[in-house]
Amino acid sequence: MTHVAVVGGGIGGLTAAHELAERGIDVTVLEAGERFGGKARSMPIEDGPASLQGEHGFRFFPAFYRHVIDTMARIPDGNGTVADNLVETEATLIASVDRPDRIAETGQPDSVRGWLEALRPAFADDLPRDDVAFLLERLLYLLTACERRRESFDDVSWWAFIDAENRSPEFRDRLAYATQSLVALRPEVGSARTVGTIYLQLLFGQLDPSRPTERVLNAPTSDAWIDPWTRYLERLGVDLRANTPATALEFDGRRVTGATLADGETVDADEFVLAVPVEVAPSFVTPELGTAAAELGRIDRLDTAWMNGIQFYLSEPVDLTRGHQVYADAPWALTSISQRQFWHEYDLEARSDGEVEGVLSVIASDWDTPGMCYDKPARECTRAEISTDIWEQLKAHLNADEPRLTDDMLVDWFLDPAIVEIDDSSAATDGDVVENRSPLLINTVGSLRNRPPADVGVENLTLASDYVRTNSDLASMESANEAGRRAANAILDRHGLRGSRARLWTLEEPVVFEPFKREDRFRYRLGLPHPAEVSHSVRRSVSALVDRNPPSGGRRLLGGARDR
Ligand SMILES: Cc1cc2nc3c(=O)[nH]c(=O)nc-3n(C[C@H](O)[C@H](O)[C@H](O)COP(=O)(O)OP(=O)(O)OC[C@H]3O[C@@H](n4cnc5c(N)ncnc54)[C@H](O)[C@@H]3O)c2cc1C
Repeated sequence: MTHVAVVGGGIGGLTAAHELAERGIDVTVLEAGERFGGKARSMPIEDGPASLQGEHGFRFFPAFYRHVIDTMARIPDGNGTVADNLVETEATLIASVDRPDRIAETGQPDSVRGWLEALRPAFADDLPRDDVAFLLERLLYLLTACERRRESFDDVSWWAFIDAENRSPEFRDRLAYATQSLVALRPEVGSARTVGTIYLQLLFGQLDPSRPTERVLNAPTSDAWIDPWTRYLERLGVDLRANTPATALEFDGRRVTGATLADGETVDADEFVLAVPVEVAPSFVTPELGTAAAELGRIDRLDTAWMNGIQFYLSEPVDLTRGHQVYADAPWALTSISQRQFWHEYDLEARSDGEVEGVLSVIASDWDTPGMCYDKPARECTRAEISTDIWEQLKAHLNADEPRLTDDMLVDWFLDPAIVEIDDSSAATDGDVVENRSPLLINTVGSLRNRPPADVGVENLTLASDYVRTNSDLASMESANEAGRRAANAILDRHGLRGSRARLWTLEEPVVFEPFKREDRFRYRLGLPHPAEVSHSVRRSVSALVDRNPPSGGRRLLGGARDR
């Protein structure tokens, strides 16, 4: 019988354990923390069995997720499965400090008109017409590009791809800076391949009547998902060891022979799955391992950014929209969700002596721009200052017309414990007052080549974490889950169990674009640019010429061209 040791019990590690254990393989999961689930776990905010829960950040499941949903549907919970704990959202509120709220429907549209209405906040309203036309052209470019999307768009920034510099401020806000609140990725450094592909997936999600556009959980993530999952894994015989940090992988030049634990013990196994976060993985890559598998040596070139959550516990439910809120003018790129309306089975009042009736869960994705209260970026604020500034930014957006959030509602707050105040005596901190012990991988320009596959060139080592090269691509629970499946498949293949591989999905795009992709493949092989690139560069050259000439000269030049 094969024994597999998984180092790290986040979504990636638990998925690998799940796939292997269901196929009769003996699995041990070594988790450094007290709880399983990694970034997706919930945590009690105080001691005691019935404490309120806090989270690293709220969880959302867009329509294109397949792997995570499939896993959830295989975890028993009560009379059903964990997938039954997913609930649909209905609308996203886009709040602004000085403009009226905009609402984007996320419920399933039941007519063509409904679809167009749902897409309106993304496209129309205040976007100049030629920006809308340009955006559609760029999206068609993405949709009709062959492998060049994967092979060359990763070297272009999303900012450059959508020509943000030369578009209207509204276009920049909606199409460029939105990436920051979504995934803490500045458009100037985000890969056009990743951002463009995911943007399309989100858009298709709105148009697909067969699947909910986005879903959230009906209770804190651990209650709704992670706890039933670990119970199920234990029933399958998985040895789940919390509070068991590993410090090294022992390598004999060919194979990994053991995982060394912090207490000095060594865990032996036939196969090892490294499922620790991207910022931790390099500490396991010795020079020998890096030589055996060059991909391992490049993990430390991957970039991370700060994206962390805070929960505000309120004396009232404060139902803003039945879905997420985006704070368009918040310097710290805030998004939120009012949880109470989704957490049907979760008794907040019982957990707070009747004091708490609402939870506003907020994520801050920009830690470098000065905030509203202290004129300092979040990373230069204390934990209490971070909380105050975020609260004020929310109020500035939500109370523009009527008071929806008031100070007397605030009972308590819980900021992600990964945000830790730095001891004054510590080494140079560049003015930072806090450090983030749990940053998130970002898909920067050119980063694809530094992302390793799950199956690296060491014969009994695989990787299962959100930085691994996957179809789902963006650092998320979906990509961590896909990576866990890929790691399990590599192990199954090596041990002659190829017939029962875990299922993998690709990101679907409408088949109607296939003939155009085939045509582009032909051009690409001949070294020719995509037609959209040709028309874009002609337009750019003409406008550059017009810019260089005074208005009359510009007209003369264009007029002259037409005369000829
Ligand atoms: C604020 C925020 C909000 C997010 N929201 C969403 C969302 O809505 N939807 C979505 O799909 N994704 C979301 N994500 C991303 C998603 O949470 C992560 O991409 C995913 O959970 C990563 O899973 P993982 O298993 O790769 O890594 P992790 O979750 O980082 O798990 C790694 C595990 O390894 C353990 N570990 C570390 N070192 C050791 C060691 N030495 N020995 C043993 N164990 C170790 C850690 O304790 C951890 O449990 C969000 C991320 C953030 C930061």
